[in-house]
Amino acid sequence: MLDKRKFYINGEWVAPAVPRDCLVINPSTDEPCAAISLGDQADTDAAVAAATAAFPAWAATPPAERARLVRAILDQYEARLQEFAEAISMEMGAPIDFALSDQAPCLPWHTQNFLKAFERIEWVRPLDPTLPRETPQPAVAMEPIGVVGLITPWNWPVNQVALKAIPAMLAGCTCVLKPSEESPLNAMLFAEFCHDAGIPPGVFNLVNGDGPGVGSQLSVHPGVEMISFTGSTRAGKAISKAAADTLKRVALELGGKGANLLFADADEQAVERSVRRMMENTGQSCNSPSRLLVERSVYDETVAKAVAVAETIKVGPAHEAGPHIGPVVNKRQWDQIQGYIQKGIDEGARLVTGGPGLPEGFNRGFYVKPTIFADVVPGMTIEKEEIFGPVLCMIPFDTEEEAIGIANDTPYGLTNYVQSGDPARSNRLARKLRSGMVEMNGKPRGAGSFFGGVKQSGRAREGGIWGLEEFLEPKGISGYDFSVKDAAE
Ligand code: NAD
Repeated sequence: MLDKRKFYINGEWVAPAVPRDCLVINPSTDEPCAAISLGDQADTDAAVAAATAAFPAWAATPPAERARLVRAILDQYEARLQEFAEAISMEMGAPIDFALSDQAPCLPWHTQNFLKAFERIEWVRPLDPTLPRETPQPAVAMEPIGVVGLITPWNWPVNQVALKAIPAMLAGCTCVLKPSEESPLNAMLFAEFCHDAGIPPGVFNLVNGDGPGVGSQLSVHPGVEMISFTGSTRAGKAISKAAADTLKRVALELGGKGANLLFADADEQAVERSVRRMMENTGQSCNSPSRLLVERSVYDETVAKAVAVAETIKVGPAHEAGPHIGPVVNKRQWDQIQGYIQKGIDEGARLVTGGPGLPEGFNRGFYVKPTIFADVVPGMTIEKEEIFGPVLCMIPFDTEEEAIGIANDTPYGLTNYVQSGDPARSNRLARKLRSGMVEMNGKPRGAGSFFGGVKQSGRAREGGIWGLEEFLEPKGISGYDFSVKDAAE
């Protein structure tokens, strides 16, 4: 078992102020794989103090130098990719091939996109770009907000760290990361990457802990200007309330209950793509297309196709090579998913594949059968609540208006999906679906796009230029003289 009890504060690995162990459980085997510490108020204070002390110099570091140091993190990643992917796979159950191909590469993907967007930032810009720059004039300076607290979940753990720590540092902020206590190992490796890349002491700090501990301490801390949080809607609400007394900026990426509208004119691959997208990462993605709304004329054949696809999806341990899906992250999550599957049956949805219990051949680990419910009726619990497991709900619809109504009738609004061969309809739906993102016909979101929702999915915009601007504050200046250059521009 790995001993990972130290925290990264002010450029050093330090012992916790008060020893308090927490075991990281490998979900493939239900056995502990590492021991970490849960931080105390004194650890949080030390990390915030380090970040506060480092802030003035880091904010004043020329942007090109900040970019160079952030780029150096990627060299560390390249050198240690296998180790990094193995850590993710072991702690949260992503099959190793998926960890190597999809989970770990989130770090270089986002970093490169941020670096590209970063070059476009005009740090001090004229209010009126048409005015000649010779005379003193109104200007807007983009300034780092200060010390930021970053709180991340376990499901796409590196993705979240990259979407927060990289833009925070590029923007000139200093930060304290509290990764999920379920998946801290990849974040601790990220801290090593930062260290070996030469990020100055105090710019990036990491304190492990749980929500009620370090998570809450950061949320109320007077030395923290902003919390960037990804996780459940429940915790997002608690953080917003906790942060209110110090009026922090709070950026929230929360849960989802995406609708996927599939019409009779959808392309040949649409059903398979939709089912695989749902089951990817064992259904543990906030943007999963977890409600498949199907035009009635093709409903029966679509259910049959979806079942056939789901039945080809194998379940297996994370350390085994192959395209299977792994276990879900922990016992609590497993129990919750089982509860939802039972509720689906009890409320009268038609179980067409999968179902309760461990898949055949398993007697330990948190494995779930790829499960599909057909004839799900809007309003059923499994249609309304985020299950966060490999469970797809299929719902027939008769008209486009009805489909839009079902899709939008949710407190969430992260990603919705459209499968239709009619571009006019696709475009129309893209505008009518209430969500931060709409993915159409399997086309990927482009490099440098943002990730973010509306309503109770939170309203952050992470990634690209938007993700950088989350960590910046515009300052209005009158009489700025553009003939004098400043080092921080
Ligand atoms: P979670 O809310 O339980 O935990 C997320 C993080 O918040 C962890 O680090 C946890 O320790 C911390 N935390 C928990 N309670 C807290 C509190 N009161 N104050 C401060 N910190 C607290 O979520 P999870 O189970 O780790 O992740 C799954 C959830 O995350 C799902 O709902 C999923 O949809 C959501 N998610 C959203 C996005 C997005 O971008 N919108 C991305 C990934 C996951």
